[in-house]
Amino acid sequence: MSEMLTTCYADLHIHIGRTEKGDPVKISGSRNLTFANIAKEAAERKGISLIGIIDCHSPGVQEDIHSCLDRGEMSEVPGGGIAYGNTTILLGCELEIREPGQGPAHLLVYFPTLQIMSEFTSWLAKRMKNVGLSSQRLHAPARTLQEEVYARGGIVIPAHIFTPHKSIYGSAADHLRDVLDPDLISGFELGLSADTEMSSWLSELDRYPLLTNSDAHSLGKIGREYNELLLREPSFDELLLALTQRDGRRITANYGLSPRLGKYHRTFCGNCQEIVDEQGNTVDRCPYCGSHKLVRGVLDRIRSIADRTEPCIPPSRPPYYVQVPLEFIPGLGKRKLEALLAAYGTEMNILHKVTERELSAVVGQELATMIVKARSGEIHLASGGGGTYGKVLGE
Ligand SMILES: [Zn+2]
Ligand SMILES: [Zn+2]
Repeated sequence: MSEMLTTCYADLHIHIGRTEKGDPVKISGSRNLTFANIAKEAAERKGISLIGIIDCHSPGVQEDIHSCLDRGEMSEVPGGGIAYGNTTILLGCELEIREPGQGPAHLLVYFPTLQIMSEFTSWLAKRMKNVGLSSQRLHAPARTLQEEVYARGGIVIPAHIFTPHKSIYGSAADHLRDVLDPDLISGFELGLSADTEMSSWLSELDRYPLLTNSDAHSLGKIGREYNELLLREPSFDELLLALTQRDGRRITANYGLSPRLGKYHRTFCGNCQEIVDEQGNTVDRCPYCGSHKLVRGVLDRIRSIADRTEPCIPPSRPPYYVQVPLEFIPGLGKRKLEALLAAYGTEMNILHKVTERELSAVVGQELATMIVKARSGEIHLASGGGGTYGKVLGE
């Protein structure tokens, strides 16, 4: 069996900025972030063969998908999804739920076909102010949503689960069961400020697969986090097999930012306007000025709700590889990136395969060394927090 399986890179959380007509979907997303452009970017520049677009519930986006199909540029994959070249687009939707007495949380849902997604849109439209826009509040109980999605053959994956403003652990509750039905969840998205080890402070996550996705709001950010999967082909059905580790399908690795580069890794003090990058846990007050005006960091939040005294990664988990996206490498501007792409095809090649000597032939020794050191996590970083990304400081 296993000889039929191949490695696929998957990034399952990409937003749409505008429809082809120019109508906004994710208002903060780039104008050129359209369905067709995402497919091209993933297939031709990034080298990602399973790409989840999570604004496909929008009727304007569905119109765009229909015209890509009608023009013959894309086709429906029998196992679920839309094919563009060797890349498959997974049809998804990001929703905001809010249970009584809790803060808001984002969930991702995915469906196998455009037909099912558009039926789901009709269900959403009655429970949402503007079904054309991204990440809108759903006016229905979270458990009702879960039942609705699974009854239609879809899956639910809570998004960026520790981020402070809109996530199940960051802003909704201390325990999963207080928000959702734990049996109607197919995996969890770690978010940019967390990694596998950080999530393993919570034993209730042990039974679920973990995903690392980019939450891209622009074409360039596609693939800043991604998953490596072993599949027969990129499709919805094959992803389901991988999430449940059946028939040899599985997640073989998570590639993510160093959590320190994420925007909410550590607590940020609104009074000193500083990120509290200390060894200890910062929960109530700023250790520098004593202020309570804190945006709590993901690390600090996890430690405060942990049921373990130290992280304990289940043995079945794939490795989490820290990667520094090329856009974070100081000195690697647009022109040099274009030159690398022209020489070596896709970003996945540049990140994983091209040797230091080959890199240096195009961008010089200093940058080549930096890219290679970034692969192994050997470069110095300053933590992010309070909505500001961390930084690469150099070697
Ligand atoms: Zn979100
Ligand atoms: Zn998002």
